[in-house]
Parts: sequence; structure tokens; C-alpha cells
Amino acid sequence: MRILFCCTGTKAAPWLDGLRAALPGADIAEWVPGAPQADHAVVWAPPQQFLDEQPGLQALFNIGAGVDALLKLRLPPGALVVRLDDAGMSVQMAEYVCHAVIRHFREFDGYERDMAEGRWSYRKPRLRSEWPVGVLGLGVLGTRVAQALAQFEFPVHGWSRTPREVAGVTCHAGEAALPGFLAASRVLVNLLPLTPATENLLDRDTLGRLQPGGYLVNVARGAHLVEADLLALLDSGHLAGATIDVLREEPPPADHPFWRHPQITLTPHTSARTLREESIAQIAGKIRALGRGEPIAGIVDPSRGY
Ligand code: NAP
Repeated sequence: MRILFCCTGTKAAPWLDGLRAALPGADIAEWVPGAPQADHAVVWAPPQQFLDEQPGLQALFNIGAGVDALLKLRLPPGALVVRLDDAGMSVQMAEYVCHAVIRHFREFDGYERDMAEGRWSYRKPRLRSEWPVGVLGLGVLGTRVAQALAQFEFPVHGWSRTPREVAGVTCHAGEAALPGFLAASRVLVNLLPLTPATENLLDRDTLGRLQPGGYLVNVARGAHLVEADLLALLDSGHLAGATIDVLREEPPPADHPFWRHPQITLTPHTSARTLREESIAQIAGKIRALGRGEPIAGIVDPSRGY
């Protein structure tokens, strides 16, 4: 078995060492132009040249959960595209989103400002029942996040393409259910994959349907959000703020308004990082399972885009 590693922006050596330890007997190398044909590849943002030179690949293992960038490329015919499913990401996403929601709900941002200015002032406790949270996407990450928020006794709603059942979460499914889901939510957490159906979904119309004083947490992809519409809704007061981990352009240009907006908390696409050891163990397990002819989880359906 021959496996090529082709991950732009990722230091290859520790991945190669880990993959070799997990799959003894496999021939594992970093891709260089003209490399001999392989049957499997571990990829992140590979160049088109790599994919064109490797028409014999049976499976591409993406070292992330989102495959939107990979699916825009011309892929080897018949190659499976396999995403990371969880591999240590869902707990990170749950802690990031709970932190963002609770920081806003408990007004810790306001207390930080007060303390910095030497002001010992209390704010009136907010009622959890008035802060329903809607989670867009009830997949591997969205389900974990919705359950974590429900543990804090927020009313939680979830939205998916097909009907789902998640304990403690009111589930909505399909396009027709979106307006009702949004109207039931005050805080909106985006955990959708980026597909033609979800690009630009967070715009003036959808965000405008949130309950007044709404709050956005975008941890999925920057292209879900129409940034000018968020700014307009913050200006109008319909939205109280946003926590933004992903942008259309990363890093954003120096004059991007999100950098210094007082109602926006910005982080550098860090809400759920790929963990090398967990990812290698998962990918190696799937390669072994495929070798035995067994089914594996996390196969992407290119026709639906996730
Ligand atoms: P997933 O398991 O594929 O789940 C996707 C969810 O979205 C599913 O519930 C799916 O519905 C729903 N969905 C897809 N298209 C829809 C549509 N048109 N209408 C309604 N619902 C739709 O994905 P995941 O692992 O939870 O990850 C979600 C996204 O998070 C990734 O695609 C990636 O972009 C992003 N991400 C970000 C970071 C970061 O650090 N910021 C890290 C990892 C991942 P069904 O249940 O009906 O299929």
C-alpha cells in the first residue's frame, strides 16, 4: 500500500512519523511532483497538480471536517473523499461555543470593561428562558454543541436538512422549517457545512428573523455570512453582537471592520483544531477497515457537498 501526504501549510515530518508508526508496512511519503502512483492520500488544500498526477487514488483523507475547498477541485475519478469525524474536534467546538454564548448571556464582556475602569457594578440577572439558542446543523459538531448548551439549561433548537432527534433539543428540518427555527432563537450558532445551498445563508433576511437583541456565533465558514448585513443589523440594534471565528478572507485585510468592531469578538479560525494524534489514529483505522472491505464513517457525498 502506498500513501501520499499532501497538506498545504502543514509540517509533514510529524504526520509522516505518526502515519508510519500506525501503519507499519505501508509505503508513506510526502508528495513531490512526479511521485509514483499511490492508492491513498492524506490531504489538506492540495494543489490541483497533485490530484491530476494521481488518477489511481482510491481514497482522499481530508485532515479537517469541512470539505468545501476540496470539492471545488477536480478529483481523481472514483476516489472516496473521507472527512475527519470528530477526532477530538467536537469537545473543542462545544467549549468554544458554550464560552461565547455564556460570555454574552452573563455579560462577562461588560464586567471586563467595568473592572478595567474600576467600576464595581452589578447587572440584573438575565432569564435563561429568554435566551433560546438555535444551532444550524445537527451533524457531528452541531449535535455535540447543542447537547452541551442544553446542559446549561438554555432552551435549544436545532436545524438540519433531514429530520434528527437530539435529546434536550427541539429539532427542525428542511428549508420550510427555517423561518420558524429562526423566530424561536435569540442566539444563533452556525455549524453548517459550506455548500451551494448554505453559502450566504446568514444574511439580512435570516439574521433579521432572530428575536430582538440577537447574537451570532459563526464557527463554520466565512462564506456563510454576508458580512455587510451583519454590520447593518448590529448598527440597527436588532443584533447585540457576534463571535466570529471564520471569515471570507483569512486573515482579513488590515482595514476589515470586524477587527475593531466593539460588538464583535474575533478569533483566528481556532474553534476546533485538527489534533494530529487523534486524526492519525482515525485515518489509519479507516485505511485498515477499507483494506478489510469494511464500511467506514465520514464518507462525503459530493452531490450534496458534505
Ligand atoms: P456534518 O457532520 O457534515 O453535519 C452537517 C449538518 O448540517 C447536518 O446536520 C446536515 O443535515 C446539516 N445541513 C447540511 N446542509 C444543510 C442544508 N442545506 N439545510 C439544513 N441543514 C443542512 O458536519 P460537522 O462535522 O458537524 O461540521 C460542520 C462544519 O463545521 C464543517 O463543514 C466545517 O465547515 C465547520 N468546521 C469549522 C471548524 C473551525 O475551526 N471553525 C472546525 C471544524 C469544522 P443532515 O443531518 O440532514 O445531514
